[in-house]
Amino acid sequence: MRKVINKLQSSPASLVCILLALLTGCVTNQSAQMPPADMMKTMEVTAYCPCKKCCGWHRNWRGKAITKGGYPKKVGVTASGAKAKPGTIAADTACYPFGTQMYVPGYGYGTVQDRGGAIKGNHIDVFFKSHKDALQWGRVKRDVYVWMPGTKTASAQ
Ligand SMILES: [Zn+2]
Repeated sequence: MRKVINKLQSSPASLVCILLALLTGCVTNQSAQMPPADMMKTMEVTAYCPCKKCCGWHRNWRGKAITKGGYPKKVGVTASGAKAKPGTIAADTACYPFGTQMYVPGYGYGTVQDRGGAIKGNHIDVFFKSHKDALQWGRVKRDVYVWMPGTKTASAQ
C-alpha cells in the first residue's frame, strides 16, 4: 500500500491523467483527440444487425431484397448512404442529425448514419455485425455522450 502511494506522489501528472480518464469515462486513444462532449443524455440503447429480422426487409419471389413498402432494399446500407459497420448508430435525426458522434459505454464510439421508424427521441440503435451480438446487447439505458455535427468534432481535427 505504501509503495503505491509513493508511486502516485512521484508522478502527479499520471495521476491527473487517470482522474481525467475516470471522469470522462473514456480510456481509449480516441478520447485524447475528442473535445468535451456537447451533452450527456441517458438514452435507451437497442441493437441491430444487417439481417432481415432487424431491418424489416424480406426477399420477394425473385429473390430480391425489398422493404415492407415493396421498394428495393440495399442490404447493409444506412439511410445516409454509408455502409453499416460497427460504430454505425441509428438515431432520431430530428434530434441527432447524421454525423452526430456518440460515445456509448459498453459499445464505444459511433456516428449517427442511420434512422429507423421506431427510433424516436432519446432512443438509439447501435450496429453489430451479427444478430447474436445484437440480441446479446438487448435493450439497456446508458449515459451517452454526444458531439453534435458542425461543432468541433474529432473528424474536423
Ligand atoms: Zn439481426
